[in-house]
Amino acid sequence: MNKKVCLINLGCKVNKYELDCLARILVKHGYDVVTHKESADYYVVNTCAVTNEAEKKSRQYIGKLAKLNANAKIVVMGCASQANPKQFQSKPNVITVIGTTKREDILTYLKGWDHALMPTPLEYEEEVSGPMQTKTRAYLKIQDGCDNFCSYCSIPYNRGRSRSRKLENCLNEAKILAKTSKEIVVTGIDMSSYTVDGKPGLGILMHALGDIQGTRFRLGSLEVGVITKEFLSILSTMPNFCPQFHLSLQSACDKVLYDMNRHYTFKEYLTKIKWIRKFFPNANITTELIVGYPTESNKDFLVTLRNIKKVHFGDMHIFPFSQKAGTVASRLKDLPNSVKKERFYQAEKIKEKQKQKYLKKNQHTIHQVLVEEKEGEYWVGYTENYIKTYLTGHQEVGVVVTVRLQQPYQEGMMGKVEEERK
Ligand code: SF4
Repeated sequence: MNKKVCLINLGCKVNKYELDCLARILVKHGYDVVTHKESADYYVVNTCAVTNEAEKKSRQYIGKLAKLNANAKIVVMGCASQANPKQFQSKPNVITVIGTTKREDILTYLKGWDHALMPTPLEYEEEVSGPMQTKTRAYLKIQDGCDNFCSYCSIPYNRGRSRSRKLENCLNEAKILAKTSKEIVVTGIDMSSYTVDGKPGLGILMHALGDIQGTRFRLGSLEVGVITKEFLSILSTMPNFCPQFHLSLQSACDKVLYDMNRHYTFKEYLTKIKWIRKFFPNANITTELIVGYPTESNKDFLVTLRNIKKVHFGDMHIFPFSQKAGTVASRLKDLPNSVKKERFYQAEKIKEKQKQKYLKKNQHTIHQVLVEEKEGEYWVGYTENYIKTYLTGHQEVGVVVTVRLQQPYQEGMMGKVEEERK
Protein backbone atom coordinates (compact mmCIF):
# COMPACT_ATOMS: atom_id res chain seq x y z
CA MET A 1 0.00 0.00 0.00
CA ASN A 2 1.28 3.45 -0.89
CA LYS A 3 2.26 5.82 1.90
CA LYS A 4 0.13 8.92 2.25
CA VAL A 5 1.52 12.44 2.23
CA CYS A 6 -0.49 15.52 3.07
CA LEU A 7 0.83 18.84 1.73
CA ILE A 8 -0.19 21.94 3.65
CA ASN A 9 0.27 25.45 2.36
CA LEU A 10 0.37 28.25 4.91
CA GLY A 11 1.75 30.89 2.58
CA CYS A 12 1.37 32.74 -0.66
CA LYS A 13 0.74 31.62 -4.24
CA VAL A 14 4.43 30.80 -4.74
CA ASN A 15 4.21 28.39 -1.82
CA LYS A 16 1.14 26.85 -3.37
CA TYR A 17 2.90 26.46 -6.72
CA GLU A 18 5.86 24.74 -5.01
CA LEU A 19 3.60 22.28 -3.28
CA ASP A 20 1.82 21.47 -6.53
CA CYS A 21 5.18 20.64 -8.12
CA LEU A 22 6.13 18.53 -5.11
CA ALA A 23 2.80 16.68 -5.30
CA ARG A 24 3.56 15.64 -8.88
CA ILE A 25 7.02 14.33 -7.88
CA LEU A 26 5.63 12.41 -4.91
CA VAL A 27 2.91 10.75 -6.99
CA LYS A 28 5.53 9.78 -9.55
CA HIS A 29 7.50 8.06 -6.79
CA GLY A 30 4.63 6.01 -5.46
CA TYR A 31 3.17 8.19 -2.71
CA ASP A 32 -0.53 9.06 -2.41
CA VAL A 33 -1.05 12.78 -1.92
CA VAL A 34 -4.07 13.30 0.34
CA THR A 35 -5.99 16.28 1.75
CA HIS A 36 -5.80 17.39 5.37
CA LYS A 37 -9.12 15.66 6.00
CA GLU A 38 -7.45 12.27 5.70
CA SER A 39 -4.92 10.79 8.08
CA ALA A 40 -1.47 10.73 6.48
CA ASP A 41 1.92 9.13 7.18
CA TYR A 42 3.78 12.34 6.37
CA TYR A 43 2.89 16.02 6.45
CA VAL A 44 4.84 18.59 4.51
CA VAL A 45 4.11 22.06 5.85
CA ASN A 46 5.13 25.01 3.68
CA THR A 47 5.46 27.84 6.22
CA CYS A 48 5.11 31.59 5.83
CA ALA A 49 7.14 34.45 7.34
CA VAL A 50 5.40 37.48 5.89
CA THR A 51 4.46 38.67 9.40
CA ASN A 52 5.20 37.56 12.96
CA GLU A 53 1.61 36.43 13.10
CA ALA A 54 2.12 34.19 10.03
CA GLU A 55 5.16 32.60 11.68
CA LYS A 56 3.23 32.00 14.87
CA LYS A 57 0.42 30.43 12.87
CA SER A 58 2.94 28.08 11.24
CA ARG A 59 4.24 26.97 14.64
CA GLN A 60 0.77 26.50 16.01
CA TYR A 61 -0.36 24.51 13.00
CA ILE A 62 2.56 22.10 13.38
CA GLY A 63 1.77 21.66 17.10
CA LYS A 64 -1.85 20.96 16.24
CA LEU A 65 -0.91 18.36 13.62
CA ALA A 66 1.23 16.44 16.12
CA LYS A 67 -1.71 16.36 18.54
CA LEU A 68 -4.21 15.24 15.91
CA ASN A 69 -1.98 12.44 14.62
CA ALA A 70 0.53 11.13 17.15
CA ASN A 71 2.29 9.09 14.44
CA ALA A 72 2.63 11.98 12.00
CA LYS A 73 6.05 12.64 10.61
CA ILE A 74 6.33 16.30 9.74
CA VAL A 75 8.65 17.96 7.24
CA VAL A 76 8.79 21.75 7.56
CA MET A 77 9.76 23.86 4.58
CA GLY A 78 9.22 27.42 3.37
CA CYS A 79 10.09 30.96 4.40
CA ALA A 80 9.58 30.79 8.18
CA SER A 81 11.72 27.69 8.44
CA GLN A 82 14.43 29.28 6.32
CA ALA A 83 14.51 32.44 8.44
CA ASN A 84 14.45 30.70 11.79
CA PRO A 85 14.72 26.89 11.59
CA LYS A 86 15.21 26.48 15.35
CA GLN A 87 11.62 27.43 16.13
CA PHE A 88 10.52 24.23 14.35
CA GLN A 89 13.35 21.78 15.00
CA SER A 90 12.30 20.95 18.55
CA LYS A 91 8.58 20.64 17.77
CA PRO A 92 7.15 17.17 18.34
CA ASN A 93 7.02 14.87 15.30
CA VAL A 94 9.13 17.17 13.12
CA ILE A 95 11.61 14.93 11.31
CA THR A 96 13.37 17.59 9.32
CA VAL A 97 13.38 21.32 8.53
CA ILE A 98 14.25 22.15 4.94
CA GLY A 99 13.89 25.90 4.46
CA THR A 100 13.48 27.26 0.94
CA THR A 101 16.35 25.49 -0.79
CA LYS A 102 16.86 21.85 -1.70
CA ARG A 103 13.15 21.13 -1.70
CA GLU A 104 13.82 18.21 -3.99
CA ASP A 105 15.58 16.56 -1.02
CA ILE A 106 12.16 15.97 0.55
CA LEU A 107 11.87 12.76 -1.38
CA THR A 108 15.15 11.53 0.10
CA TYR A 109 13.99 12.37 3.62
CA LEU A 110 10.71 10.60 3.16
CA LYS A 111 12.39 7.55 1.72
CA GLY A 112 14.85 7.56 4.58
CA TRP A 113 11.99 7.41 7.03
CA ASP A 114 10.11 4.89 5.01
CA HIS A 115 12.44 2.01 4.38
CA ALA A 116 9.65 -0.15 3.05
CA LEU A 117 9.33 2.17 0.08
CA MET A 118 13.00 2.32 -0.69
CA PRO A 119 13.82 0.97 -4.11
CA THR A 120 16.37 -1.37 -2.55
CA PRO A 121 17.36 -4.46 -4.46
CA LEU A 122 17.44 -7.56 -2.28
CA GLU A 123 20.19 -9.15 -4.30
CA TYR A 124 23.64 -7.78 -5.06
CA GLU A 125 23.49 -5.98 -8.42
CA GLU A 126 26.15 -7.83 -10.39
CA GLU A 127 25.63 -5.64 -13.42
CA VAL A 128 27.12 -2.59 -11.68
CA SER A 129 30.31 -4.47 -10.84
CA GLY A 130 33.21 -5.36 -13.07
CA PRO A 131 36.97 -5.58 -12.85
CA MET A 132 38.82 -2.27 -13.02
CA GLN A 133 42.30 -3.45 -13.79
CA THR A 134 45.29 -1.40 -12.75
CA LYS A 135 48.99 -2.10 -12.44
CA THR A 136 48.96 -1.18 -8.77
CA ARG A 137 45.97 -1.34 -6.40
CA ALA A 138 42.59 -2.62 -7.53
CA TYR A 139 39.32 -2.84 -5.62
CA LEU A 140 37.15 -5.90 -5.33
CA LYS A 141 33.63 -4.96 -4.26
CA ILE A 142 31.93 -7.83 -2.46
CA GLN A 143 28.94 -6.21 -0.77
CA ASP A 144 26.62 -3.22 -0.88
CA GLY A 145 24.25 -1.47 1.52
CA CYS A 146 24.11 -1.52 5.31
CA ASP A 147 21.63 -2.60 8.00
CA ASN A 148 23.37 -0.97 10.94
CA PHE A 149 21.70 2.45 11.03
CA CYS A 150 24.38 4.24 12.98
CA SER A 151 22.68 7.41 14.15
CA TYR A 152 24.98 9.79 12.25
CA CYS A 153 25.13 7.96 8.92
CA SER A 154 22.88 8.33 5.89
CA ILE A 155 24.23 5.32 4.00
CA PRO A 156 21.50 2.82 4.98
CA TYR A 157 18.94 5.33 3.65
CA ASN A 158 20.83 6.03 0.45
CA ARG A 159 22.13 2.59 -0.40
CA GLY A 160 19.54 0.35 1.18
CA ARG A 161 19.83 -3.03 2.81
CA SER A 162 22.96 -5.14 2.97
CA ARG A 163 23.40 -7.59 0.13
CA SER A 164 26.38 -9.81 -0.62
CA ARG A 165 27.90 -10.64 -3.96
CA LYS A 166 28.08 -14.31 -4.89
CA LEU A 167 31.30 -15.97 -3.73
CA GLU A 168 31.93 -17.37 -7.19
CA ASN A 169 31.63 -13.93 -8.81
CA CYS A 170 33.99 -12.37 -6.25
CA LEU A 171 36.59 -15.07 -6.91
CA ASN A 172 36.27 -14.82 -10.68
CA GLU A 173 36.78 -11.08 -10.55
CA ALA A 174 39.73 -11.42 -8.16
CA LYS A 175 41.41 -13.82 -10.61
CA ILE A 176 41.00 -11.34 -13.46
CA LEU A 177 42.32 -8.48 -11.33
CA ALA A 178 45.30 -10.54 -10.15
CA LYS A 179 46.54 -10.82 -13.73
CA THR A 180 47.50 -7.13 -13.74
CA SER A 181 47.13 -5.68 -10.24
CA LYS A 182 49.76 -6.24 -7.58
CA GLU A 183 47.33 -5.52 -4.77
CA ILE A 184 43.59 -6.07 -4.35
CA VAL A 185 41.58 -4.29 -1.66
CA VAL A 186 38.50 -6.26 -0.65
CA THR A 187 35.80 -3.70 -0.08
CA GLY A 188 32.11 -3.07 0.53
CA ILE A 189 29.86 -0.61 2.31
CA ASP A 190 29.66 -2.92 5.34
CA MET A 191 31.70 -5.88 4.26
CA SER A 192 31.81 -7.26 7.80
CA SER A 193 28.23 -8.34 7.10
CA TYR A 194 29.27 -10.29 3.98
CA THR A 195 27.49 -13.63 3.81
CA VAL A 196 27.83 -16.83 1.83
CA ASP A 197 24.59 -18.84 1.68
CA GLY A 198 23.15 -16.62 4.39
CA LYS A 199 25.98 -17.30 6.88
CA PRO A 200 28.93 -15.06 7.86
CA GLY A 201 31.20 -15.31 4.84
CA LEU A 202 34.16 -12.95 4.97
CA GLY A 203 36.41 -15.69 6.38
CA ILE A 204 35.27 -18.12 3.66
CA LEU A 205 36.01 -15.56 0.97
CA MET A 206 39.43 -14.63 2.35
CA HIS A 207 40.38 -18.28 2.68
CA ALA A 208 39.59 -18.79 -1.02
CA LEU A 209 41.44 -15.61 -2.03
CA GLY A 210 44.52 -17.00 -0.29
CA ASP A 211 44.95 -19.42 -3.22
CA ILE A 212 45.23 -16.65 -5.81
CA GLN A 213 48.82 -15.92 -6.73
CA GLY A 214 50.58 -12.91 -8.21
CA THR A 215 48.90 -10.32 -6.01
CA ARG A 216 48.32 -9.47 -2.35
CA PHE A 217 45.05 -8.81 -0.52
CA ARG A 218 44.12 -6.01 1.82
CA LEU A 219 40.88 -5.60 3.74
CA GLY A 220 38.84 -2.39 3.69
CA SER A 221 37.05 -1.01 6.74
CA LEU A 222 35.88 -3.61 9.26
CA GLU A 223 33.40 -3.63 12.12
CA VAL A 224 34.23 -5.04 15.57
CA GLY A 225 31.81 -7.96 15.26
CA VAL A 226 33.66 -9.61 12.37
CA ILE A 227 36.90 -10.01 14.35
CA THR A 228 36.87 -13.51 15.78
CA LYS A 229 39.78 -15.81 16.53
CA GLU A 230 38.61 -18.08 13.72
CA PHE A 231 38.60 -15.21 11.22
CA LEU A 232 42.07 -14.07 12.30
CA SER A 233 43.34 -17.62 12.09
CA ILE A 234 42.16 -17.83 8.45
CA LEU A 235 43.89 -14.55 7.60
CA SER A 236 47.10 -15.67 9.29
CA THR A 237 47.34 -18.69 6.99
CA MET A 238 47.00 -16.57 3.82
CA PRO A 239 50.40 -16.20 2.16
CA ASN A 240 49.29 -12.98 0.46
CA PHE A 241 47.44 -11.08 3.20
CA CYS A 242 48.42 -7.51 4.08
CA PRO A 243 48.40 -7.09 7.87
CA GLN A 244 46.50 -3.83 8.08
CA PHE A 245 43.20 -3.65 9.98
CA HIS A 246 41.02 -0.60 9.60
CA LEU A 247 38.72 -1.27 12.53
CA SER A 248 36.01 1.35 12.79
CA LEU A 249 35.80 2.86 16.31
CA GLN A 250 33.92 6.23 16.00
CA SER A 251 34.02 6.91 19.76
CA ALA A 252 35.93 5.33 22.63
CA CYS A 253 33.26 6.32 25.19
CA ASP A 254 30.55 3.70 25.80
CA LYS A 255 27.82 6.28 26.38
CA VAL A 256 28.49 7.96 23.04
CA LEU A 257 28.80 4.60 21.27
CA TYR A 258 25.36 3.74 22.60
CA ASP A 259 23.95 7.05 21.39
CA MET A 260 25.52 6.44 18.00
CA ASN A 261 23.73 3.08 17.84
CA ARG A 262 27.06 1.27 17.63
CA HIS A 263 26.71 -2.14 19.20
CA TYR A 264 29.92 -2.65 21.13
CA THR A 265 31.75 -1.27 24.12
CA PHE A 266 35.27 0.07 24.15
CA LYS A 267 36.32 -2.93 26.24
CA GLU A 268 35.12 -5.26 23.47
CA TYR A 269 36.97 -3.17 20.91
CA LEU A 270 40.19 -3.41 22.91
CA THR A 271 39.81 -7.18 23.27
CA LYS A 272 39.60 -7.49 19.47
CA ILE A 273 42.72 -5.35 19.11
CA LYS A 274 44.58 -7.72 21.45
CA TRP A 275 43.46 -10.71 19.40
CA ILE A 276 44.62 -9.05 16.17
CA ARG A 277 48.05 -8.37 17.68
CA LYS A 278 48.31 -11.94 18.89
CA PHE A 279 47.96 -13.19 15.31
CA PHE A 280 49.72 -10.23 13.66
CA PRO A 281 52.22 -8.68 16.09
CA ASN A 282 53.17 -5.86 13.72
CA ALA A 283 49.70 -5.21 12.28
CA ASN A 284 48.97 -1.62 11.37
CA ILE A 285 45.71 -0.88 13.16
CA THR A 286 43.92 2.17 11.83
CA THR A 287 40.51 3.62 12.55
CA GLU A 288 37.92 6.36 12.19
CA LEU A 289 36.85 8.62 15.02
CA ILE A 290 34.07 11.20 15.20
CA VAL A 291 34.62 14.02 17.68
CA GLY A 292 31.94 16.42 18.88
CA TYR A 293 28.94 14.12 18.48
CA PRO A 294 25.93 16.10 19.77
CA THR A 295 25.62 14.10 23.02
CA GLU A 296 29.37 13.94 23.67
CA SER A 297 30.04 15.92 26.86
CA ASN A 298 33.49 17.18 27.83
CA LYS A 299 33.75 14.28 30.25
CA ASP A 300 32.82 11.79 27.50
CA PHE A 301 35.43 13.26 25.22
CA LEU A 302 38.09 12.90 27.92
CA VAL A 303 37.12 9.23 28.24
CA THR A 304 37.64 8.86 24.48
CA LEU A 305 41.04 10.54 24.64
CA ARG A 306 42.10 8.34 27.54
CA ASN A 307 40.93 5.18 25.80
CA ILE A 308 42.38 5.77 22.35
CA LYS A 309 45.79 6.05 24.00
CA LYS A 310 45.39 2.40 25.02
CA VAL A 311 45.10 1.19 21.43
CA HIS A 312 48.27 2.54 19.80
CA PHE A 313 46.84 3.16 16.37
CA GLY A 314 49.07 3.31 13.32
CA ASP A 315 46.80 6.03 11.96
CA MET A 316 43.40 7.56 12.61
CA HIS A 317 40.96 9.41 10.42
CA ILE A 318 39.37 11.96 12.70
CA PHE A 319 36.23 13.85 11.72
CA PRO A 320 34.43 16.59 13.60
CA PHE A 321 30.76 15.54 13.69
CA SER A 322 28.68 16.93 10.86
CA GLN A 323 24.95 16.53 10.42
CA LYS A 324 23.69 14.32 7.60
CA ALA A 325 20.19 15.15 6.51
CA GLY A 326 17.56 12.57 7.40
CA THR A 327 19.62 10.80 10.08
CA VAL A 328 18.66 10.45 13.73
CA ALA A 329 21.64 12.59 14.78
CA SER A 330 20.61 15.40 12.46
CA ARG A 331 17.70 16.08 14.81
CA LEU A 332 19.99 16.54 17.82
CA LYS A 333 21.32 19.91 18.85
CA ASP A 334 24.71 20.38 17.26
CA LEU A 335 27.68 21.39 19.44
CA PRO A 336 29.33 24.74 18.70
CA ASN A 337 31.97 24.57 15.98
CA SER A 338 34.58 25.93 18.39
CA VAL A 339 34.06 22.89 20.67
CA LYS A 340 34.29 20.44 17.76
CA LYS A 341 37.41 22.18 16.48
CA GLU A 342 39.15 22.03 19.84
CA ARG A 343 38.31 18.32 20.27
CA PHE A 344 39.53 17.61 16.77
CA TYR A 345 42.80 19.36 17.54
CA GLN A 346 43.30 17.38 20.77
CA ALA A 347 42.55 14.03 19.14
CA GLU A 348 44.85 14.88 16.22
CA LYS A 349 47.73 15.42 18.63
CA ILE A 350 47.31 11.89 20.02
CA LYS A 351 46.96 10.49 16.54
CA GLU A 352 50.24 12.07 15.44
CA LYS A 353 52.11 10.72 18.48
CA GLN A 354 50.78 7.21 17.94
CA LYS A 355 51.50 7.30 14.24
CA GLN A 356 55.12 8.38 14.81
CA LYS A 357 55.53 5.62 17.39
CA TYR A 358 54.30 3.01 14.94
CA LEU A 359 56.58 4.34 12.19
CA LYS A 360 59.58 4.21 14.52
CA LYS A 361 58.69 0.66 15.50
CA ASN A 362 59.08 -0.26 11.82
CA GLN A 363 62.39 1.51 11.38
CA HIS A 364 65.11 -0.79 9.91
CA THR A 365 62.60 -3.54 9.14
CA ILE A 366 62.18 -5.13 5.71
CA HIS A 367 58.96 -4.75 3.70
CA GLN A 368 57.50 -5.30 0.27
CA VAL A 369 56.63 -1.93 -1.23
CA LEU A 370 54.28 -1.65 -4.18
CA VAL A 371 55.45 1.41 -6.16
CA GLU A 372 52.44 3.53 -7.10
CA GLU A 373 53.51 6.93 -8.36
CA LYS A 374 56.10 9.68 -8.37
CA GLU A 375 55.70 12.52 -5.89
CA GLY A 376 58.20 15.29 -6.54
CA GLU A 377 61.67 13.79 -6.43
CA TYR A 378 60.58 10.51 -4.81
CA TRP A 379 58.81 7.40 -5.93
CA VAL A 380 56.12 6.45 -3.42
CA GLY A 381 54.35 3.25 -2.57
CA TYR A 382 52.95 1.33 0.37
CA THR A 383 54.29 -1.53 2.43
CA GLU A 384 52.11 -4.55 3.07
CA ASN A 385 51.27 -3.02 6.48
CA TYR A 386 50.34 0.24 4.77
CA ILE A 387 53.23 2.53 5.56
CA LYS A 388 53.73 5.16 2.89
CA THR A 389 57.30 4.76 1.69
CA TYR A 390 59.46 7.26 -0.18
CA LEU A 391 62.12 5.84 -2.49
CA THR A 392 65.02 7.37 -4.38
CA GLY A 393 66.53 6.15 -7.64
CA HIS A 394 64.74 4.85 -10.69
CA GLN A 395 61.55 2.88 -10.01
CA GLU A 396 58.51 1.85 -12.01
CA VAL A 397 54.81 2.03 -11.28
CA GLY A 398 53.42 -1.41 -10.44
CA VAL A 399 56.70 -2.96 -9.34
CA VAL A 400 57.08 -4.56 -5.91
CA VAL A 401 60.43 -3.89 -4.29
CA THR A 402 62.02 -5.21 -1.13
CA VAL A 403 62.75 -2.21 1.04
CA ARG A 404 64.38 -1.54 4.37
CA LEU A 405 62.57 1.30 6.10
CA GLN A 406 64.76 4.17 7.23
CA GLN A 407 63.67 7.25 9.18
CA PRO A 408 60.14 8.76 9.31
CA TYR A 409 59.58 11.24 6.48
CA GLN A 410 56.49 13.37 5.74
CA GLU A 411 53.44 11.03 5.88
CA GLY A 412 55.49 7.84 6.13
CA MET A 413 59.09 6.70 5.96
CA MET A 414 62.08 6.85 3.70
CA GLY A 415 62.98 3.45 2.28
CA LYS A 416 66.13 1.89 0.91
CA VAL A 417 65.65 -0.62 -1.88
CA GLU A 418 67.31 -3.91 -1.05
CA GLU A 419 66.05 -5.96 -3.93
CA GLU A 420 63.71 -5.51 -6.86
CA ARG A 421 61.02 -7.96 -7.90
CA LYS A 422 58.58 -7.75 -10.84
S1 SF4 B 1 28.66 4.15 9.60
FE1 SF4 B 1 29.03 2.29 8.43
S2 SF4 B 1 28.09 0.70 9.67
FE2 SF4 B 1 27.22 2.61 10.39
S3 SF4 B 1 25.36 2.89 9.16
FE3 SF4 B 1 27.00 3.95 8.09
S4 SF4 B 1 27.75 2.45 6.61
FE4 SF4 B 1 26.58 1.32 8.12
